[in-house]
Amino acid sequence: MNDNSNPVLVAGAGPVGLACALELARLGRAVRIVDKKDGPSTDSKAIAVNSRSLELLEPSGVTPRIVEAGVHIRRANLHSGDRRIATMDFSALDHRYNFAMALPQSETEKLLAAALGERGVRVEWGTELTAFGQDAKTVHAVLVKDGRQETVESPYLVGADGAHSTVRHQLKLGFPGAAYEDLWQVLDVRMDGPWGRDEVNVRFVPDGGIFFAIPIPGEALFRIATNRPEEPAALAPAGTTIHEVVWRSDFRIHHRVVESFARDRCFLCGDAAHVHSPAGGRGMNLGIEDATDLARRIVGGGVAGYAARRHAIAKRVVAQTDRLTRMAMLRSPLSRTLRDTLVPLVVALPPARRFLARENMGLNSG
Ligand SMILES: Cc1cc2nc3c(=O)[nH]c(=O)nc-3n(C[C@H](O)[C@H](O)[C@H](O)COP(=O)(O)OP(=O)(O)OC[C@H]3O[C@@H](n4cnc5c(N)ncnc54)[C@H](O)[C@@H]3O)c2cc1C
Repeated sequence: MNDNSNPVLVAGAGPVGLACALELARLGRAVRIVDKKDGPSTDSKAIAVNSRSLELLEPSGVTPRIVEAGVHIRRANLHSGDRRIATMDFSALDHRYNFAMALPQSETEKLLAAALGERGVRVEWGTELTAFGQDAKTVHAVLVKDGRQETVESPYLVGADGAHSTVRHQLKLGFPGAAYEDLWQVLDVRMDGPWGRDEVNVRFVPDGGIFFAIPIPGEALFRIATNRPEEPAALAPAGTTIHEVVWRSDFRIHHRVVESFARDRCFLCGDAAHVHSPAGGRGMNLGIEDATDLARRIVGGGVAGYAARRHAIAKRVVAQTDRLTRMAMLRSPLSRTLRDTLVPLVVALPPARRFLARENMGLNSG
């Protein structure tokens, strides 16, 4: 099989599959992208697009569109109750994207799909990857659309098919990790309050609770989330009024990393390979990193190095996010007091502050 004439097959048209297909198309590689859903998602889900993703999506022309459509996030504030204990100022970063963009995932996906369409690649909706096998040169995949089965041959299969990945299951790759106990409430709301529209605010509340808010495009719109069962308004700072809930979802968070990101000609990217808490806003961004790295290796050579590199990065980010999540959810008053004393001291140190800001923005993993 001629590697260049046969399309790479991407399973899954979430942000990660779209980013992979787009980068392949930009680099002149034939690609097919299929998704079992009937059409694009309208779910708000991941909001933050960090500096590293903006850098990676720049060559395909998507970054200026995200920057135009989203809200600039210039700093992150940590509060313990009503006391601000630390601020991370992204604008101090020495980077052309020294900010994050806040944009609902459905809008990011729309921009990625539009850019892909401009390069002549349409997502094949309603098309499910149901089975595949591989030999030394080819992946043989079975796609099902409207009950009709098609067998395709492709040089590579990219499994960007989410946390319940068919590709991961069929490769029989373990997904070790665990679930956190708490159920999270995630809402997009119209609200007024003391927090600015160019910052993320994270508030530690009693009993291991976290409440956070990030502005999203639209008059007075914010994404808010909490791991507590109370009405979110009860956890917001004084002076906050929630006028309207425009989207909500309750979900349980896991932290898991697949045992290997590849088996021969089949690769995993995004949630198919790693899931973790939204602390630090890395989830979708880490997937976009996988996707562009893999696409560049497929075109430029070096696919053999993909699995080890991305596995090491994901293990580090997921472990770090887990530490951050546990620190945020501390329950005992003594450990909370200790945390609230130590965090400002650490963040006051310029190297620590710089490391944390770069980590958040995906700039430490390259
Ligand atoms: C309620 C909620 C809130 C979230 N909030 C945040 C947040 O604030 N910050 C953050 O960073 N992350 C957040 N996330 C996580 C974030 O949404 C994911 O990290 C991101 O969607 C991962 O993208 P992906 O493309 O890897 O997978 P997905 O977005 O899950 O896309 C996978 C796609 O594959 C398709 N598919 C599956 N199986 C097949 C198959 N066999 N054949 C064809 N297609 C298939 C699916 O239909 C789907 O469209 C949130 C998730 C949820 C559910």
